[in-house]
Amino acid sequence: MAVGYLRPTKGVVNCQAIYNNIKAEQQHIKNNAEIYAVVKANGYGHGAVKVAEVAKKAGATGFCVSILDEALELREAGFKEPILILGVVDPRYVYHVIKENLSCAAISLEWLEAVLEEWPKEEVGKLAIHVKIDTGMGRLGLRTEEEMKEVLDFLEKHPQFYLEGLFTHFSKADSADESHLKVQQERFSKAIMIFPKDIPYVHTSNSATALWHDNWKSNLIRLGASMYGLNPSGKELKTPYKIEQAMSVITEIVQVKKVPKGEALSYGATYYTSEDEWIGTLPIGYADGFTRDFQGFEVLVDGVRCPIVGRVCMDQCMVKLPKGYPVGTKVVIFGHDRKGNSISFQEAAEYIETINYEIPCVLSERVPLVYVNECD
Ligand SMILES: *Cc1c(COP(=O)(O)O)cnc(C)c1O
Repeated sequence: MAVGYLRPTKGVVNCQAIYNNIKAEQQHIKNNAEIYAVVKANGYGHGAVKVAEVAKKAGATGFCVSILDEALELREAGFKEPILILGVVDPRYVYHVIKENLSCAAISLEWLEAVLEEWPKEEVGKLAIHVKIDTGMGRLGLRTEEEMKEVLDFLEKHPQFYLEGLFTHFSKADSADESHLKVQQERFSKAIMIFPKDIPYVHTSNSATALWHDNWKSNLIRLGASMYGLNPSGKELKTPYKIEQAMSVITEIVQVKKVPKGEALSYGATYYTSEDEWIGTLPIGYADGFTRDFQGFEVLVDGVRCPIVGRVCMDQCMVKLPKGYPVGTKVVIFGHDRKGNSISFQEAAEYIETINYEIPCVLSERVPLVYVNECD
């Protein structure tokens, strides 16, 4: 896919913000837990390799990804640190997991047996696994005591599996309502009793658990959202320390025109000018991850909030300007401008009724990432 290097639309990532967000979490930890930076989905759209570099400098001791390809990307980039794959690895690729010294989630007895079936013929060493307990997310992992005992039994018989970790994932650690969290915590406490005491890593903490629940029973924190400066609760809970959104999305006006009153704009003619209006065209559209739901949302032009008028097209959209700005005028789509005005991912998420995580995640490959304040 062609990346839009020659177009003014960019994702600008402030490395110092990521660094500071991790340092702030380190200060907040009370039990010496390690931080694994979660860089799945290309680092939530911020660029996995660069985020991993910055996180390492800030003191992250390992990384979490969701799929094997993401782990291999980090290895190819030269990272020697531990990498935990949180999603389900296809048992056919167990050779690569072992060879690249990766750790992966073990989600069921069935999965372990399938891995055994695919075990490489040559001498490869052990497979490091983190057994996943499904305490109430309903996504991956063992649910019953019986399943846990079967898995332990299996592991005893098959020493080529190295039980490196035991973990679970909380679905609602980011809310003032802690009732479901309590259910999950209770179940995980029971699971811990069933497993051996000497497992190196026991972990439950995503950002929310790290921020608001003292990384409950975790000697490893899987830090995602808060590292990127995204509040996992949206607006519900205040973060105990300040975090800063690391990414801004910027562009420039590519055409400006005065459109007479009563004229239609964009596909479907959903907008008619109510007076003679200054209209600017921006080179960003839904193919860039700037979805059509943003019709009517605002962008920052010269510190002024300007509405997106008419439909967002595949590659472009139009904004109503207060005056005839010159072509080339800088526009902030998300993030802050030099004057301190800002439109956060949170605000954007609320507008399109999603969560802040999703906005940077869906930015497409066509939008090049530019790194500033590189903490060298
Ligand atoms: C994505 C993910 C995380 C990171 O969650 P954040 O809310 O972004 O901190 C942690 N653990 C698992 C299992 C995940 O899938």
